[in-house]
Amino acid sequence: MHELSLCESIVTLVVESAGREGIRRVTRVTVDIGAGAAIDPDALLFCFPLVTEDTLAARAELAIERTALKARCDACGTDYAPDTLIAPCPACGGTRRTLLAGRDMRVVSFEGE
Ligand SMILES: [Zn+2]
Repeated sequence: MHELSLCESIVTLVVESAGREGIRRVTRVTVDIGAGAAIDPDALLFCFPLVTEDTLAARAELAIERTALKARCDACGTDYAPDTLIAPCPACGGTRRTLLAGRDMRVVSFEGE
């Protein structure tokens, strides 16, 4: 389950940043998961309390935002939002495209006190 190691990376990043900013307790962490990122949000939510235990982020809330896939067709240049990673261009039916967004996961923000 790679969500566990992902969760550890998120928490390490947040706890380090929070420490630098003099935050004693992180209350909320917001992450963005691209629709094509192959990450299970439920698994992330499940891991989060386990990983944050005994850290600055213990009992923090994890908020998950989703970024839709966005692609540009290599053949005709149309920007579109494919439902899946293999959806063809709606304008010309081409399958060669460049993904512009929706494949990554990132930490958007965190709040603390
Ligand atoms: Zn096209």
